[in-house]
Amino acid sequence: MATLVFVETSEGKVRKTSLEAVAYAHQMGAGVTAIVLGTASSSELESLGKYGAQKVLHAADSKLDHPVIQVFASVITKAMQDENADVLVLANSSLATPVGAKVAVKINASFASNVVELPSAGFVVKRSIYTGKAFSLVELKNQKKVIAIKKNAAEAKEVGGSAQVVAYPVSLNEADFNTKITGTEKATGDILLPEAEIVVSGGRGLKGPEHWGILEELAKALHAATGCSKPVSDMHWRPHHEHVGQTGVKVAPQLYIAVGISGAIQHLAGVNSSKCIVVINKDPEAPFFKAADYGIVGDAFDVLPKLTEAVKTMK
Ligand SMILES: Cc1cc2nc3c(=O)[nH]c(=O)nc-3n(C[C@H](O)[C@H](O)[C@H](O)COP(=O)(O)OP(=O)(O)OC[C@H]3O[C@@H](n4cnc5c(N)ncnc54)[C@H](O)[C@@H]3O)c2cc1C
Repeated sequence: MATLVFVETSEGKVRKTSLEAVAYAHQMGAGVTAIVLGTASSSELESLGKYGAQKVLHAADSKLDHPVIQVFASVITKAMQDENADVLVLANSSLATPVGAKVAVKINASFASNVVELPSAGFVVKRSIYTGKAFSLVELKNQKKVIAIKKNAAEAKEVGGSAQVVAYPVSLNEADFNTKITGTEKATGDILLPEAEIVVSGGRGLKGPEHWGILEELAKALHAATGCSKPVSDMHWRPHHEHVGQTGVKVAPQLYIAVGISGAIQHLAGVNSSKCIVVINKDPEAPFFKAADYGIVGDAFDVLPKLTEAVKTMK
């Protein structure tokens, strides 16, 4: 059973979530071909071999540098046919998931998003549902299958292989693009919140925007992105794109540090895929402690500077 993996890039670099998708496909035990659309360096393309891709198709047309879902879906559908692939694996992301759904329609495939484990017998996959509160087991019955892997569900482990990189020419013209991205603007600093490996988030416990410096100091020392609770962004203490939770950004970092956040269910819905949660709150009864791997009961204004100093000392 041949498997194709759609690999996303950001500024020419392969996204970690796509490495996880390649590693997942490798663990499925099938021959893995990856496809990369748009500009990417040969070292990035070759690096996919280390995670289990045997072949990398590179559609280098610069028209693909700005992703358009319909166009990406058409190119990947053709690659599925050319490679005789039965399974498409991709990351569960704002781009890849709709691309996967469109491909599934085009090739009459069974589709599952938010997949958290390898398929079991009969191609049954486990999906995370209700913002991580439950799982569903779904049998993918059609011969062709499309699976979107939830962030952190598979480890991007190096397996020591190498990949053959093959140019994959595509013929695109303006009429193929029903939308055109004319430019992009970064809303955040260097580290994108949904992609961050470490997130330091603040809540109403920080009392006001003038106190965010101590949180940013810790984030800087940890090379982390900053986030916040909804009331904090509603009160314009922080920009809306930092709002984490059910109605905001869903994060899945290795480490989530919540400072002065009570742990309401709507906030937890955005962070419960984090590998490790550390909670700093002066109220020992704060609900967030129940979801925490580590908790510090204390005043954020005492704890944060000490933690930042300790991190700096360790470096
Ligand atoms: C439909 C709906 C959707 C929502 N979606 C979201 C969402 O996506 N994301 C989200 O975050 N919320 C969301 N909410 C709001 C959510 O219910 C909570 O009201 C909100 O998360 C609380 O924010 P908070 O923890 O910052 O503030 P608070 O609940 O006021 O908690 C502040 C915490 O700080 C602690 N604290 C105070 N002083 C200090 C100090 N000096 N040091 C350390 N700790 C201190 C307190 O003990 C307390 O636990 C939603 C609500 C609704 C109804």
